[in-house]
Amino acid sequence: MSLYLDISSELASGALDLWNYQATNMMTSEDLMSFEESVYRYMHRNRSLDVDTMSYEELLELEEQIGKANAGLSEDTVQKNLKRMKYPSSAAYKAESCCICQEDYADGEELGVLTCGHDFHASCVGKWLVQKNFCPICKKTALST
Ligand SMILES: [Zn+2]
Ligand SMILES: [Zn+2]
Repeated sequence: MSLYLDISSELASGALDLWNYQATNMMTSEDLMSFEESVYRYMHRNRSLDVDTMSYEELLELEEQIGKANAGLSEDTVQKNLKRMKYPSSAAYKAESCCICQEDYADGEELGVLTCGHDFHASCVGKWLVQKNFCPICKKTALST
């Protein structure tokens, strides 16, 4: 785990508490990495936040807020909720490449479309969504569940 604790010292003490809390849930190393990213993002957005003075309840709340943005969806939820279409389609879809794999769409490929309207290969975005439920482009909630 020490590998993933390479975060700046201003975050370290508070994040560590969250970390220990998270670690008890047997996170994978990928989870830990994206959790670290989330802590970073959260701290950058909330510069006034002083984790040193936060109570355990506040830390839990923070963890919950981070968790919401960070949590992925189940395969099942992705299957049920991801809107699919074939490329090319009419007017509504402007993107011509998938920002996850950087490949251009080919005719007849299946695309997955998120709530925000951004589209990706269905298989690429499917893998992304089980990691995190936000759009890789605009960071909005990917699918409402
Ligand atoms: Zn792709
Ligand atoms: Zn988007």
